Amino acid sequence: MLKYPKNYQESKTELKAWIQSLKKAGVKVDTKSFPIEGELVIDKVTIKSKKQTTKRLILTLGLHGIEGYVGHACLKVFLNEFLGKLSPETETVIYHPLNPYGMSKFRRTNENNVDLNRNFSQHQFSAENIGYQKAQSFFEPRKLRGHLLSNLGYYGRVLKVIAKYGVSSMKEATLMGQKIQKEGLYYSAQEFQKSTQVMISEIPKLLDGVADVVWVDLHTGYGPRYQMSVVNSVREAKTPKEVSEAIQYPLVLGLNKEDFYEIDGDMIEWIYMENNKREKPIQLYATCFEFGTLGDSTLNSIESLKAMVFENSDRFHPQSKSFSRYANRLMREQYLPSSIKWKEKAEQDFHQAFGGILRYKGFSNK
Ligand SMILES: [Zn+2]
Repeated sequence: MLKYPKNYQESKTELKAWIQSLKKAGVKVDTKSFPIEGELVIDKVTIKSKKQTTKRLILTLGLHGIEGYVGHACLKVFLNEFLGKLSPETETVIYHPLNPYGMSKFRRTNENNVDLNRNFSQHQFSAENIGYQKAQSFFEPRKLRGHLLSNLGYYGRVLKVIAKYGVSSMKEATLMGQKIQKEGLYYSAQEFQKSTQVMISEIPKLLDGVADVVWVDLHTGYGPRYQMSVVNSVREAKTPKEVSEAIQYPLVLGLNKEDFYEIDGDMIEWIYMENNKREKPIQLYATCFEFGTLGDSTLNSIESLKAMVFENSDRFHPQSKSFSRYANRLMREQYLPSSIKWKEKAEQDFHQAFGGILRYKGFSNK
């Protein structure tokens, strides 16, 4: 069963202890910290290969702050169960977490309310999110009163917006980043954030000096509740079906090509772009693990949006203490579910998909 740390601080204490015990066991480990905000840092942990490095395995977590708790729990599974089985030419690099502010505050966004997976813009932040523009007032943070009234108000507003603009317009609003409302959701900003800058300078180095890179970026919140989704880049040459067969994992998705041209700012797409820029692109497989929490029906999406709207309103408008607690509870259930059944299945899925990828790519033969 996945085990979450209580808070950001505890996650760092655990990380340090893991590094210490690796070193004690004679494993070569390098560490580096990138300061992001005050005391909050991205820790980079490099676990050296036993022989000359020809393969690099990269694990990133917490790009969406709060999602880093499940990511951290998966990292523990990796260290305990996979690290020892890697081929001797494989070096492992971990970034923990990409959005330390969001993780410490149990938010998705960073210190500037930016959704970092919309911030890796390859088009100078030129994309326009028409769906969001239309429904902008819906996303405006507001004062909310009591559970019942705030819920009634929310469902009323959501139904109105959907009736007026349609489900597809709402999908667009929530899929693409937006740069018009700083205190809204999915804010992309119009300049690279600190965390983004760190990764933009790291990515070329991570693709250097090896023939093969596997990169897994850990997320929660999207997809069916009891089956983690492996979400491939649109630039991945193999179809989802081919990858699913190769890694022996049932749920593999590819980003829809039509949607893709509108989504700008995704980190995984940036990694492929960097690789394609190289004189000789290396073998790259970069993907997202998305641990679904609420489910993937339209009703589930409306619920999921509610947690974000309430939590965001709580962030930008003073609310009653009991409302703050309520909004926070919704948020946690959405990104680090408390259910034992969920945590057990999530660990099992991580195990199956991760092990499958390592074997498929020849990073491990066990
Ligand atoms: Zn995410």
